[in-house]
Amino acid sequence: MPLRLFNTLSGKIEEFRPLVDNEVRMYACGPTVYDYGHIGNFRTFVAVDILRRYLRQSGHKLHHVMNITDVDDKIIRNAAQAGVNVHQYTAKYQKAFLEDAAALHIEEPQITRATEHIAQMAEFIARLVEKGLAYKTEDGSYYFRIAKFPGYGKLSKRDFAGMENGARVDVDEYEKDNARDFALWKAPKSGEASWESVIGPGRPGWHIECSVMSMQELGESFDLHAGGEDLIFPHHENEIAQSESLTGKQFAHFWFHARFLLVEGEKMSKSAGNFFTLRDLVLKGHKPSSIRYLLASVPYRHQLNFTFEGLQQAAASVERLRNFRLRLSGNFPDGSSLAMTSLAEQTSKRLRESLDDDLNTAQAQAAIFDMVRAANAAIDEGEIKKDDVPPLLAALDQFDEIFAVLNDDDAEKMQYIAEWANSDGREKDISPALRDIISSAALSDDQVNQRIEQMKAARAAKKYAESDAIRAELTAAAIIIEQTKEGVRWRRK
Ligand code: AMP
Ligand code: ZN
Repeated sequence: MPLRLFNTLSGKIEEFRPLVDNEVRMYACGPTVYDYGHIGNFRTFVAVDILRRYLRQSGHKLHHVMNITDVDDKIIRNAAQAGVNVHQYTAKYQKAFLEDAAALHIEEPQITRATEHIAQMAEFIARLVEKGLAYKTEDGSYYFRIAKFPGYGKLSKRDFAGMENGARVDVDEYEKDNARDFALWKAPKSGEASWESVIGPGRPGWHIECSVMSMQELGESFDLHAGGEDLIFPHHENEIAQSESLTGKQFAHFWFHARFLLVEGEKMSKSAGNFFTLRDLVLKGHKPSSIRYLLASVPYRHQLNFTFEGLQQAAASVERLRNFRLRLSGNFPDGSSLAMTSLAEQTSKRLRESLDDDLNTAQAQAAIFDMVRAANAAIDEGEIKKDDVPPLLAALDQFDEIFAVLNDDDAEKMQYIAEWANSDGREKDISPALRDIISSAALSDDQVNQRIEQMKAARAAKKYAESDAIRAELTAAAIIIEQTKEGVRWRRK
């Protein structure tokens, strides 16, 4: 069965196939860089990353573009207040976003920046004006005339038949149920950033940037456009209106929207005290891998309720997977067992079927845990043979190509956040748990293995004081040592 995805535009689950050959051209709305990314943002970016990884695993080539909105009302206002220019203001948050995304193993798409495409945006608006689809107001701003686009409302499934002709809205944030001519370009305001252009001085509106950058990179018609569900209206509706009225062609064919994340059952907000950036959670000692696992645990169209209990469970799940892989590196008797090879094959098939089913990540996680449970039981019973290991590892790798949590680089990924906290006046927020994890990373894997060999040698030579000392040193570095039937194993706390 091919991949099936929910298409917001048709309101149905459809088979997904690229328009041309085997290459998927997709565009995802990126962050507005006026603050640090929060876990709601990363819920959407992880969902898009899973889509991206699965498209590739299913054999597609990919041209994936994401914008960074480095100019908008809030950015201009905040920069003016801080007495710096827009670039200076956003640089820090852009860098932070890219670092945080990498910590969550979100693969980096091709990135485009709004401020680097202002001339093209102005030209696009000039063409809209030529066609009578946009107009200039007295102050030098430009608006899109939505009455000229009969398809307005087709994405958000709203009926705008009675919309007011000529009523305008000129800010990036506005009430969701009101269709009005929206700003394409805003005239300069004193003390605020503006650019010279073929349509006069000013700055672009938020919607125009995504139309211009996506079509520039991917063509007038492309396969898929993604974002969080809050972008359906007005942002994506407006992108469609601008783009399709100008080109006369269908803009994006699939529209992919991730459902909003809740925290402890409520909408995340600073005033409610339930607002968390990725950095807030890492400072508390939570690992990026646990956060990614949790964000991926609920299929993207279902509501994910973020709780600290859920985060603990996600951490335990990742530990189990990592321990299982470690266990498979043990010694097993020669031969193979039919039960284990068919378990691995079944799991591989279940993984594909789950993800083909509109990216059912919950089912995929269930499939891998069923395998881990059965294989662990088989190891306990001495039923696993040497040749069973490669197929089991292959199923685990197939899972991890999408979920990306097995590689234990958490400490390294958490280190830069501790360094940032130190330099940004937040050192008091670094929890003892985070300090522990970072100190464990002070020893490389090779160094730990070497110390463990020395510990075993000391013990074999009955030099117990020495072996105890090494053990204490490793414990202080937050390395947990376990004696198992297969010998000494270790992991980081
Ligand atoms: P922004 O930086 O506000 O432009 O948002 C970046 C991305 O995060 C967009 O795709 C938003 O739709 C998405 N987003 C914002 N808040 C949430 C949330 N609570 N849950 C899921 N996605 C969100
Ligand atoms: Zn966008």
